[in-house]
Amino acid sequence: HLAPSPSSESAPTTFKVACCCCRSRKDVQTCTHWKAPIIWEGTFNPEYYNKEYRKQNVIIGLTVFAVGNYLDLYLKNFLATADEFFMPGFPVIYYVFVDDLAKLQALELSGHREVTGLQVERHERWQDVSMLRMETISRAIETHIRHQVTYVFCFDVDQQFKGRFGTEALGELVGLLHAWYYRRPQYFYTYDHNPRSAANLDNSGDFYYHAAVFGGTWQQVRNLTESCYQAILQDKRNKVEARWHDESHLNKYFWLHKPTRVLSPEYCWDESIGWRRDIHVHRVTWAKKQYRLSRVN
Ligand code: UDP
Ligand code: MN
Repeated sequence: HLAPSPSSESAPTTFKVACCCCRSRKDVQTCTHWKAPIIWEGTFNPEYYNKEYRKQNVIIGLTVFAVGNYLDLYLKNFLATADEFFMPGFPVIYYVFVDDLAKLQALELSGHREVTGLQVERHERWQDVSMLRMETISRAIETHIRHQVTYVFCFDVDQQFKGRFGTEALGELVGLLHAWYYRRPQYFYTYDHNPRSAANLDNSGDFYYHAAVFGGTWQQVRNLTESCYQAILQDKRNKVEARWHDESHLNKYFWLHKPTRVLSPEYCWDESIGWRRDIHVHRVTWAKKQYRLSRVN
């Protein structure tokens, strides 16, 4: 069987990917039960994907938020390492959402890629800064991102690229397995279990996805972010907040709308976990968290 082929709404991809059950890694799960590939080192040929996507002239958008002192602490390193490792050899536009454009300019980013700085409000609570990214991304896709790129990937800023994060990661709707939970039994998953929250999910989810990285075609990412934003608004009206904020809503969304491609934790690894036999490469790693400094409110 073949991995699901893209729907006609966005349909930039016309080539087939190989059967995901006959790939070369035997030690890890390489296919979801709905037949989406799970991308691990050793399961793909990067050159194959580069060649196919080059034919399609794809442009990839990357969104990242750096509000308050997250800008000082993490942004420069995030973008410098993205220059080197995110979609190497392909045109990428960075959409950087900040509360202080002057500070962004002062960073004097010297990379070769287009950087679009966008002003956002600084919400008082860090939970709102994080959650309401869904609203901002959805709006930005509607107003201009959709006219500029084929695919969009959305990242937390408190991390850095360490290895190739390339075209093998592109797909209609892409989710990432959370480094802490990928080998854990489902009862460890920290879904929201409050029936009053729109993110409520009983323990029947597929995986625990990490909200630090998600992506897909602009159409799919718009649908995802808009839907999560509406769910967040509903929670606010009902005076509840999901357990892990935007991540809980994302997990609910991926339960209802299965990702067509799933990234292994190699795509966002927490080095404090230590060595794991099945993690062959670190493509993105978590930055050392400076909660005291970064979460001022
Ligand atoms: N963020 C920000 N400023 C803040 C809080 C959050 O820019 O004051 C953005 C930033 O991109 C960050 C993301 O929201 O990476 C998610 O927040 P955080 O990384 O603190 O959440 P965690 O990864 O700890 O769940
Ligand atoms: Mn983070």
